[in-house]
Amino acid sequence: MNSSSSLCFDSLMRKHGVARYAIVPTGPVEPSAIASFDRWIQEGQHGSMAYMERYGDVRANPALLLEGASSMICCAIPYPSPLHLPPRKASIAAYALGSDYHEVVREKLTAVAKEIEKTMGGKTRVCVDTAPLRERYWAQRSGLGFTGLNSHLIIPGMGSFFFLGEILTTALLPPTPAAPERDCGRCGRCVKACPTGAIGPDGTFDARRCLSYLTIEHRGEFEPGTSLHGRLYGCDICGAVCPHNAGAGRQEILPELQPRPALLSLTVDEAASMTQERFSALFTHSAIKRTKLAGLRRNAAAIMK
Ligand code: SF4
Ligand code: SF4
Repeated sequence: MNSSSSLCFDSLMRKHGVARYAIVPTGPVEPSAIASFDRWIQEGQHGSMAYMERYGDVRANPALLLEGASSMICCAIPYPSPLHLPPRKASIAAYALGSDYHEVVREKLTAVAKEIEKTMGGKTRVCVDTAPLRERYWAQRSGLGFTGLNSHLIIPGMGSFFFLGEILTTALLPPTPAAPERDCGRCGRCVKACPTGAIGPDGTFDARRCLSYLTIEHRGEFEPGTSLHGRLYGCDICGAVCPHNAGAGRQEILPELQPRPALLSLTVDEAASMTQERFSALFTHSAIKRTKLAGLRRNAAAIMK
C-alpha cells in the first residue's frame, strides 16, 4: 500500500468503528506459544471450557481457517470503559451491557472485508472470538499491543476495554510497522486486586478461579464456599485497576455497544426470580444469553446467600 491507499484503509477502518488495527503476515504460531498453551490446558486451568482442547492444529496455523491466507488484520473496537459508566444496580461486566459483540464486531469487520475483496481481490474470513485463533498472540505479533499480566491485550494509549476481531485475507498486505516490546514492568496491580487469586505474579491465569469464568462459562452448581464477590455476570476488576486504562482517553463508542438502560437498572433480586420469557426479551442480541436463564439465576442466588 502506498501512503494514499493506507490513508483510505485508515478511513475505512474508522468508518466501521475500528479504533486501532495492525497487519501481520500469517504463518505458523511459534512453538513456544503452542507449548505454553498446551501446558495450560494439560494443567486443567481452562476449567470446563472443553472447546479450548479442540482444533489444536487450526489454533497453530491460521491458514487452516482460510486456505491461502497471507495476511491478518487485527482490529480493536472499543466498548464503554467501566471507569466511565453510569451506576449499575447489578454488577455486570461493561462489555456485556450493550448488544452482543459477536454480532456487532462481525457485522463491522464483514463490511471492511467486503471492501478489501472489492478493491484488492482475494478471499477473506472474519473471526470474532469463536474461531480457534490465538487472538492475543496475533495481536501482539502484529504490534497492536502487548499482553498484560491480567491476560488482556493492552494497547498503549488506549488501554484494554475493546473487542478484538480479525480479518484473514489471501491478499498480501504490507505489514504495519513493528511496535517496541512492552510489558507490565513492576506494576502487579491486577495481581493484588483480583479477589480470587486467579492471576499469578508471573501472569499465569487459572480460569477456574476467575469470576468471569465462574459467572459465564461454568455450568451447574458452584463448589461449596464459592463466593462471586457480588458479580452477577463477568468481572471488570483486573482491567479497571490497570494504569493503562486509567490513563487512556475516552474512545468513541459505536451506538450498538452503548449500555442498554434496562441492563443498567437490572437488580440482583430481579435476576434471581426471572422468568424465561423475561430473560429472552431482556437479553435478545445480548452476550448475557450465553449464561442462560439457569446460570443467571444461579449467580443471583449465590450473591444473595
Ligand atoms: S476478571 Fe476478576 S476474577 Fe477474573 S482474573 Fe480479573 S479480577 Fe480476577
Ligand atoms: S494492572 Fe499492571 S500488571 Fe496488571 S495488566 Fe495492567 S499494567 Fe500489567
